[in-house]
Amino acid sequence: FVSFESVVMGPPDAILGVKTRFLKDTSEQRTNVSVGKPVVLEAVKKAERLILENDARIKEYLPIAGDPEFRQATKEFCFGADAKAVKEDRVATVQALSGTGALRVGAEFLNTHFPGTQVYIPDPTWGNHFKIFGNAGLQTHKYRYLDVKTRGLDFEAMLADLRKAAPGSVVVLHVCAHNPTGVDPTTEQWAKIADTVADCKLLPFFDSAYQGFATGDVEKDAFAVRLFEERGLPMLVAQSYSKNMGLYGERIGALNVVCPSKDAMTRVMSQLELVVRAMYSNPPRHGAAIAATILTNPELRAEWLVELKAIVDRILQMRKGLREAIEATGAPGDWSFITNQIGMFTFTGLSAEQVASMEKNYNIYMPSNGRISVAGLTDDKLDHVAAAIRSVL
Ligand code: PLP
Repeated sequence: FVSFESVVMGPPDAILGVKTRFLKDTSEQRTNVSVGKPVVLEAVKKAERLILENDARIKEYLPIAGDPEFRQATKEFCFGADAKAVKEDRVATVQALSGTGALRVGAEFLNTHFPGTQVYIPDPTWGNHFKIFGNAGLQTHKYRYLDVKTRGLDFEAMLADLRKAAPGSVVVLHVCAHNPTGVDPTTEQWAKIADTVADCKLLPFFDSAYQGFATGDVEKDAFAVRLFEERGLPMLVAQSYSKNMGLYGERIGALNVVCPSKDAMTRVMSQLELVVRAMYSNPPRHGAAIAATILTNPELRAEWLVELKAIVDRILQMRKGLREAIEATGAPGDWSFITNQIGMFTFTGLSAEQVASMEKNYNIYMPSNGRISVAGLTDDKLDHVAAAIRSVL
Protein backbone atom coordinates (compact mmCIF):
# COMPACT_ATOMS: atom_id res chain seq x y z
CA PHE A 1 0.00 0.00 0.00
CA VAL A 2 1.66 3.27 -1.12
CA SER A 3 0.65 6.36 0.85
CA PHE A 4 3.49 8.70 -0.18
CA GLU A 5 4.07 9.28 3.55
CA SER A 6 7.59 7.94 3.04
CA VAL A 7 8.55 10.62 0.49
CA VAL A 8 11.24 12.91 1.87
CA MET A 9 11.53 16.62 1.11
CA GLY A 10 13.75 17.43 -1.86
CA PRO A 11 16.35 20.20 -1.65
CA PRO A 12 15.18 23.57 -3.04
CA ASP A 13 16.52 24.63 -6.42
CA ALA A 14 19.47 26.97 -5.84
CA ILE A 15 18.30 29.75 -8.17
CA LEU A 16 14.54 29.44 -7.70
CA GLY A 17 15.07 29.45 -3.90
CA VAL A 18 16.80 32.81 -4.17
CA LYS A 19 13.82 34.24 -6.04
CA THR A 20 11.37 32.96 -3.39
CA ARG A 21 13.33 34.72 -0.62
CA PHE A 22 13.59 37.88 -2.72
CA LEU A 23 9.83 38.00 -3.27
CA LYS A 24 9.23 37.73 0.48
CA ASP A 25 11.56 40.70 1.17
CA THR A 26 9.57 43.92 1.64
CA SER A 27 12.59 46.26 1.90
CA GLU A 28 12.79 49.08 -0.63
CA GLN A 29 16.42 48.35 -1.32
CA ARG A 30 15.80 44.68 -2.20
CA THR A 31 17.77 43.76 -5.31
CA ASN A 32 17.68 40.48 -7.18
CA VAL A 33 20.91 39.92 -9.11
CA SER A 34 20.37 36.17 -9.56
CA VAL A 35 18.48 36.43 -12.86
CA GLY A 36 17.71 38.99 -15.56
CA LYS A 37 14.29 40.37 -16.37
CA PRO A 38 13.27 39.06 -19.81
CA VAL A 39 11.73 41.60 -22.15
CA VAL A 40 9.49 40.54 -25.02
CA LEU A 41 11.36 41.49 -28.16
CA GLU A 42 9.59 43.46 -30.89
CA ALA A 43 10.66 40.82 -33.42
CA VAL A 44 8.92 38.20 -31.28
CA LYS A 45 5.70 40.23 -31.09
CA LYS A 46 5.71 40.70 -34.86
CA ALA A 47 6.40 37.01 -35.47
CA GLU A 48 3.47 36.13 -33.21
CA ARG A 49 1.17 38.40 -35.21
CA LEU A 50 2.28 36.78 -38.46
CA ILE A 51 1.73 33.31 -37.03
CA LEU A 52 -1.79 34.19 -35.86
CA GLU A 53 -2.69 35.59 -39.25
CA ASN A 54 -1.14 32.90 -41.40
CA ASP A 55 -1.05 29.54 -39.67
CA ALA A 56 -4.53 28.03 -39.70
CA ARG A 57 -3.31 24.66 -38.35
CA ILE A 58 -2.03 26.36 -35.25
CA LYS A 59 -3.27 23.79 -32.71
CA GLU A 60 -2.37 20.62 -34.57
CA TYR A 61 0.22 18.22 -33.21
CA LEU A 62 3.72 18.74 -34.54
CA PRO A 63 5.62 15.72 -35.86
CA ILE A 64 7.68 13.85 -33.22
CA ALA A 65 10.89 15.60 -34.35
CA GLY A 66 9.22 19.00 -34.31
CA ASP A 67 8.51 21.77 -36.81
CA PRO A 68 10.41 20.95 -40.04
CA GLU A 69 10.98 24.62 -40.90
CA PHE A 70 12.32 25.30 -37.42
CA ARG A 71 14.57 22.22 -37.53
CA GLN A 72 16.24 23.34 -40.76
CA ALA A 73 16.55 26.96 -39.63
CA THR A 74 18.00 26.12 -36.22
CA LYS A 75 20.59 23.78 -37.73
CA GLU A 76 21.72 26.53 -40.11
CA PHE A 77 21.76 29.05 -37.27
CA CYS A 78 24.03 26.76 -35.28
CA PHE A 79 26.48 25.47 -37.88
CA GLY A 80 26.05 28.02 -40.69
CA ALA A 81 24.02 27.34 -43.85
CA ASP A 82 27.23 26.57 -45.75
CA ALA A 83 28.61 24.08 -43.24
CA LYS A 84 29.62 20.81 -44.85
CA ALA A 85 27.61 18.74 -42.38
CA VAL A 86 24.47 20.79 -43.17
CA LYS A 87 24.97 20.70 -46.94
CA GLU A 88 25.61 16.97 -46.87
CA ASP A 89 22.51 16.50 -44.70
CA ARG A 90 24.48 14.77 -41.95
CA VAL A 91 22.98 16.59 -38.96
CA ALA A 92 20.13 14.85 -37.14
CA THR A 93 18.05 17.63 -35.56
CA VAL A 94 15.06 17.36 -33.25
CA GLN A 95 13.17 20.27 -31.76
CA ALA A 96 13.48 20.16 -27.98
CA LEU A 97 12.04 21.62 -24.79
CA SER A 98 14.67 24.32 -24.86
CA GLY A 99 18.29 23.70 -23.90
CA THR A 100 17.44 21.55 -20.90
CA GLY A 101 15.20 19.25 -22.93
CA ALA A 102 17.80 19.01 -25.69
CA LEU A 103 20.46 17.95 -23.20
CA ARG A 104 18.08 15.41 -21.66
CA VAL A 105 17.11 13.85 -25.01
CA GLY A 106 20.79 13.72 -25.99
CA ALA A 107 21.72 12.12 -22.67
CA GLU A 108 18.94 9.53 -23.02
CA PHE A 109 20.06 8.72 -26.57
CA LEU A 110 23.67 8.28 -25.41
CA ASN A 111 22.70 6.10 -22.47
CA THR A 112 20.59 3.87 -24.72
CA HIS A 113 23.14 3.41 -27.51
CA PHE A 114 26.42 3.88 -25.63
CA PRO A 115 25.68 2.57 -22.13
CA GLY A 116 28.41 3.13 -19.60
CA THR A 117 29.53 6.36 -21.23
CA GLN A 118 31.38 8.66 -18.84
CA VAL A 119 30.47 12.34 -19.03
CA TYR A 120 33.02 15.06 -18.20
CA ILE A 121 31.51 18.36 -17.09
CA PRO A 122 33.38 21.61 -16.35
CA ASP A 123 33.96 22.65 -12.74
CA PRO A 124 32.03 24.81 -12.09
CA THR A 125 29.11 24.56 -14.49
CA TRP A 126 25.40 25.23 -14.77
CA GLY A 127 24.16 23.12 -11.86
CA ASN A 128 21.58 21.20 -13.87
CA HIS A 129 24.20 19.47 -16.05
CA PHE A 130 24.99 16.88 -13.38
CA LYS A 131 21.32 16.15 -12.73
CA ILE A 132 20.39 15.91 -16.42
CA PHE A 133 23.15 13.46 -17.33
CA GLY A 134 22.89 11.61 -14.02
CA ASN A 135 19.12 11.13 -14.31
CA ALA A 136 19.62 9.69 -17.79
CA GLY A 137 21.80 7.01 -16.18
CA LEU A 138 25.21 8.29 -17.25
CA GLN A 139 28.17 8.62 -14.93
CA THR A 140 29.35 12.19 -14.46
CA HIS A 141 32.79 13.58 -13.61
CA LYS A 142 34.21 17.07 -13.29
CA TYR A 143 37.06 18.48 -15.32
CA ARG A 144 38.95 21.50 -14.02
CA TYR A 145 37.91 24.74 -15.71
CA LEU A 146 38.14 27.85 -13.54
CA ASP A 147 41.32 29.07 -11.90
CA VAL A 148 39.85 30.50 -8.70
CA LYS A 149 42.88 32.72 -8.09
CA THR A 150 42.86 34.51 -11.45
CA ARG A 151 39.13 33.98 -12.08
CA GLY A 152 40.29 32.96 -15.57
CA LEU A 153 40.48 29.66 -17.43
CA ASP A 154 42.75 26.98 -15.96
CA PHE A 155 43.55 25.82 -19.46
CA GLU A 156 46.41 23.40 -18.78
CA ALA A 157 44.43 21.71 -16.00
CA MET A 158 41.42 21.44 -18.28
CA LEU A 159 43.43 19.73 -21.03
CA ALA A 160 45.20 17.47 -18.53
CA ASP A 161 41.84 16.27 -17.18
CA LEU A 162 40.41 15.71 -20.66
CA ARG A 163 43.48 13.70 -21.64
CA LYS A 164 42.81 11.35 -18.73
CA ALA A 165 39.27 10.56 -19.95
CA ALA A 166 38.73 7.15 -21.59
CA PRO A 167 38.15 7.16 -25.38
CA GLY A 168 34.45 7.52 -26.14
CA SER A 169 33.84 9.68 -23.07
CA VAL A 170 31.55 12.65 -23.51
CA VAL A 171 32.92 16.12 -22.80
CA VAL A 172 30.37 18.85 -22.10
CA LEU A 173 31.51 22.20 -23.51
CA HIS A 174 29.75 25.55 -23.18
CA VAL A 175 29.81 27.09 -26.67
CA CYS A 176 30.14 30.64 -25.32
CA ALA A 177 29.36 32.78 -22.27
CA HIS A 178 30.18 29.95 -19.87
CA ASN A 179 27.67 29.76 -17.03
CA PRO A 180 28.43 30.61 -14.21
CA THR A 181 31.99 31.85 -14.76
CA GLY A 182 31.69 34.07 -17.85
CA VAL A 183 35.10 32.65 -18.81
CA ASP A 184 35.48 31.30 -22.36
CA PRO A 185 38.48 29.76 -24.12
CA THR A 186 40.18 31.95 -26.74
CA THR A 187 40.03 30.88 -30.39
CA GLU A 188 43.58 29.45 -30.07
CA GLN A 189 42.56 27.52 -26.99
CA TRP A 190 39.48 26.15 -28.76
CA ALA A 191 41.77 24.82 -31.51
CA LYS A 192 43.82 23.01 -28.87
CA ILE A 193 40.68 21.66 -27.21
CA ALA A 194 39.60 20.32 -30.63
CA ASP A 195 43.04 18.67 -31.02
CA THR A 196 42.72 17.03 -27.61
CA VAL A 197 39.15 15.88 -28.25
CA ALA A 198 40.23 14.37 -31.58
CA ASP A 199 43.45 12.80 -30.22
CA CYS A 200 41.70 11.27 -27.21
CA LYS A 201 38.64 10.25 -29.25
CA LEU A 202 36.25 12.11 -26.97
CA LEU A 203 32.70 12.96 -27.96
CA PRO A 204 31.91 16.68 -27.53
CA PHE A 205 28.45 17.61 -26.31
CA PHE A 206 28.14 21.36 -26.82
CA ASP A 207 25.69 23.36 -24.76
CA SER A 208 24.68 26.42 -26.78
CA ALA A 209 22.48 28.44 -24.45
CA TYR A 210 23.83 31.89 -25.34
CA GLN A 211 24.51 32.16 -29.09
CA GLY A 212 24.61 35.93 -29.70
CA PHE A 213 24.62 36.74 -26.00
CA ALA A 214 28.41 36.74 -25.62
CA THR A 215 29.47 39.28 -28.23
CA GLY A 216 26.15 40.36 -29.73
CA ASP A 217 27.22 38.63 -32.96
CA VAL A 218 25.46 35.30 -33.50
CA GLU A 219 28.02 34.11 -36.06
CA LYS A 220 31.06 34.87 -33.89
CA ASP A 221 29.48 33.20 -30.88
CA ALA A 222 29.10 29.95 -32.83
CA PHE A 223 32.86 29.80 -33.41
CA ALA A 224 33.61 26.74 -31.28
CA VAL A 225 30.86 24.56 -32.75
CA ARG A 226 31.78 25.56 -36.30
CA LEU A 227 35.47 24.88 -35.70
CA PHE A 228 34.70 21.33 -34.54
CA GLU A 229 32.33 20.84 -37.47
CA GLU A 230 35.00 22.00 -39.94
CA ARG A 231 37.36 19.47 -38.41
CA GLY A 232 34.81 16.74 -39.22
CA LEU A 233 34.36 15.73 -35.58
CA PRO A 234 31.23 13.89 -34.44
CA MET A 235 29.34 15.85 -31.80
CA LEU A 236 26.06 16.76 -30.18
CA VAL A 237 24.83 20.33 -29.78
CA ALA A 238 21.99 21.41 -27.50
CA GLN A 239 20.55 24.79 -28.48
CA SER A 240 18.35 27.15 -26.51
CA TYR A 241 16.41 30.24 -27.59
CA SER A 242 15.53 31.20 -24.00
CA LYS A 243 18.10 33.96 -23.77
CA ASN A 244 18.89 35.12 -27.29
CA MET A 245 15.22 35.43 -28.29
CA GLY A 246 13.92 35.93 -24.76
CA LEU A 247 11.64 32.91 -25.23
CA TYR A 248 12.25 31.40 -21.76
CA GLY A 249 8.72 30.15 -21.09
CA GLU A 250 8.11 28.95 -24.64
CA ARG A 251 10.66 26.16 -24.10
CA ILE A 252 12.18 26.22 -27.54
CA GLY A 253 15.52 24.69 -28.48
CA ALA A 254 16.96 21.81 -30.45
CA LEU A 255 19.28 18.86 -30.25
CA ASN A 256 21.69 18.35 -33.17
CA VAL A 257 23.75 15.22 -33.69
CA VAL A 258 26.49 15.56 -36.31
CA CYS A 259 26.88 12.21 -38.05
CA PRO A 260 29.56 10.91 -40.44
CA SER A 261 27.07 10.22 -43.28
CA LYS A 262 23.52 10.95 -44.36
CA ASP A 263 22.73 7.31 -43.85
CA ALA A 264 23.91 7.40 -40.23
CA MET A 265 21.93 10.63 -39.74
CA THR A 266 18.73 8.89 -40.86
CA ARG A 267 19.29 6.08 -38.38
CA VAL A 268 20.15 8.49 -35.56
CA MET A 269 17.00 10.51 -36.37
CA SER A 270 14.89 7.38 -36.04
CA GLN A 271 16.40 6.71 -32.60
CA LEU A 272 15.99 10.31 -31.41
CA GLU A 273 12.34 10.09 -32.42
CA LEU A 274 11.95 6.95 -30.31
CA VAL A 275 13.36 8.83 -27.31
CA VAL A 276 11.01 11.77 -27.85
CA ARG A 277 7.94 9.63 -28.49
CA ALA A 278 8.27 7.86 -25.16
CA MET A 279 9.18 11.01 -23.19
CA TYR A 280 6.64 13.59 -24.36
CA SER A 281 5.39 12.38 -27.76
CA ASN A 282 5.93 15.62 -29.66
CA PRO A 283 7.05 19.14 -28.82
CA PRO A 284 4.99 22.33 -28.43
CA ARG A 285 4.21 24.39 -31.50
CA HIS A 286 4.22 28.06 -30.58
CA GLY A 287 7.87 28.68 -29.67
CA ALA A 288 9.03 26.77 -32.74
CA ALA A 289 6.81 28.90 -34.97
CA ILE A 290 8.20 32.10 -33.43
CA ALA A 291 11.84 31.04 -33.73
CA ALA A 292 11.37 29.70 -37.28
CA THR A 293 9.61 32.88 -38.38
CA ILE A 294 12.36 35.10 -36.98
CA LEU A 295 15.18 32.97 -38.35
CA THR A 296 13.73 32.68 -41.87
CA ASN A 297 12.07 36.09 -42.41
CA PRO A 298 14.92 38.43 -43.45
CA GLU A 299 13.26 41.57 -42.06
CA LEU A 300 12.38 40.05 -38.71
CA ARG A 301 15.78 38.42 -38.45
CA ALA A 302 17.51 41.74 -39.02
CA GLU A 303 15.29 43.44 -36.45
CA TRP A 304 15.95 40.68 -33.92
CA LEU A 305 19.73 40.93 -34.39
CA VAL A 306 19.61 44.67 -33.69
CA GLU A 307 17.55 44.07 -30.55
CA LEU A 308 19.89 41.30 -29.42
CA LYS A 309 22.92 43.54 -29.93
CA ALA A 310 21.27 46.26 -27.82
CA ILE A 311 20.70 43.78 -24.96
CA VAL A 312 24.34 42.68 -25.11
CA ASP A 313 25.56 46.28 -25.25
CA ARG A 314 23.52 47.08 -22.15
CA ILE A 315 25.09 44.12 -20.35
CA LEU A 316 28.57 45.35 -21.33
CA GLN A 317 27.63 48.80 -20.05
CA MET A 318 26.49 47.29 -16.73
CA ARG A 319 29.74 45.34 -16.44
CA LYS A 320 31.69 48.55 -16.86
CA GLY A 321 29.40 50.36 -14.42
CA LEU A 322 29.68 47.66 -11.77
CA ARG A 323 33.46 47.51 -12.02
CA GLU A 324 33.76 51.29 -11.75
CA ALA A 325 31.33 51.45 -8.83
CA ILE A 326 33.27 48.78 -6.91
CA GLU A 327 36.62 50.42 -7.66
CA ALA A 328 35.18 53.76 -6.52
CA THR A 329 34.53 52.28 -3.06
CA GLY A 330 38.29 51.72 -2.73
CA ALA A 331 37.75 47.95 -2.57
CA PRO A 332 41.09 46.14 -2.58
CA GLY A 333 41.98 43.74 -5.37
CA ASP A 334 41.75 43.55 -9.13
CA TRP A 335 38.19 43.91 -10.46
CA SER A 336 39.07 43.76 -14.15
CA PHE A 337 37.57 40.25 -14.29
CA ILE A 338 34.13 41.87 -14.31
CA THR A 339 34.74 43.45 -17.70
CA ASN A 340 36.86 40.53 -18.96
CA GLN A 341 34.21 37.88 -18.32
CA ILE A 342 31.71 37.18 -21.08
CA GLY A 343 27.93 36.89 -21.22
CA MET A 344 25.22 37.78 -18.75
CA PHE A 345 26.93 36.49 -15.61
CA THR A 346 29.89 37.59 -13.57
CA PHE A 347 31.47 35.13 -11.19
CA THR A 348 32.54 37.32 -8.29
CA GLY A 349 34.44 34.77 -6.26
CA LEU A 350 32.41 35.87 -3.19
CA SER A 351 32.02 33.05 -0.68
CA ALA A 352 28.68 31.62 0.43
CA GLU A 353 29.12 33.49 3.76
CA GLN A 354 29.75 36.78 1.99
CA VAL A 355 26.70 36.21 -0.22
CA ALA A 356 24.58 35.44 2.86
CA SER A 357 25.82 38.59 4.56
CA MET A 358 24.92 40.73 1.53
CA GLU A 359 21.44 39.23 1.58
CA LYS A 360 20.98 39.80 5.33
CA ASN A 361 22.42 43.31 5.56
CA TYR A 362 21.85 44.76 2.09
CA ASN A 363 18.84 42.82 0.76
CA ILE A 364 20.86 41.72 -2.27
CA TYR A 365 19.96 38.31 -3.64
CA MET A 366 22.23 35.98 -5.62
CA PRO A 367 23.01 32.25 -5.61
CA SER A 368 25.50 31.10 -2.97
CA ASN A 369 28.19 30.53 -5.60
CA GLY A 370 28.57 34.32 -5.90
CA ARG A 371 27.30 34.56 -9.47
CA ILE A 372 25.75 37.91 -10.37
CA SER A 373 23.47 38.22 -13.37
CA VAL A 374 24.67 41.46 -14.93
CA ALA A 375 21.49 41.39 -17.01
CA GLY A 376 19.57 41.84 -13.74
CA LEU A 377 21.46 45.05 -12.85
CA THR A 378 20.28 48.59 -13.50
CA ASP A 379 22.15 51.92 -13.15
CA ASP A 380 20.30 52.87 -9.97
CA LYS A 381 21.41 49.65 -8.22
CA LEU A 382 25.13 49.79 -9.01
CA ASP A 383 26.25 51.84 -5.99
CA HIS A 384 24.16 49.77 -3.59
CA VAL A 385 25.60 46.49 -4.92
CA ALA A 386 29.14 47.91 -4.92
CA ALA A 387 28.81 49.14 -1.33
CA ALA A 388 27.53 45.74 -0.25
CA ILE A 389 30.42 43.94 -1.93
CA ARG A 390 32.90 46.37 -0.32
CA SER A 391 31.40 45.72 3.11
CA VAL A 392 31.78 41.93 2.98
CA LEU A 393 35.35 41.81 1.69
N1 PLP B 1 22.67 25.46 -20.44
C1 PLP B 1 23.16 26.49 -19.76
C2 PLP B 1 24.62 26.64 -19.65
C3 PLP B 1 22.30 27.42 -19.19
O1 PLP B 1 22.82 28.45 -18.53
C4 PLP B 1 20.91 27.25 -19.30
C5 PLP B 1 19.98 28.18 -18.68
O2 PLP B 1 20.28 28.91 -17.79
C6 PLP B 1 20.45 26.15 -20.04
C7 PLP B 1 21.35 25.28 -20.58
C8 PLP B 1 19.04 25.80 -20.28
O3 PLP B 1 18.09 26.76 -20.35
P1 PLP B 1 16.73 26.48 -21.11
O4 PLP B 1 16.28 25.12 -20.76
O5 PLP B 1 15.82 27.55 -20.64
O6 PLP B 1 17.06 26.60 -22.55
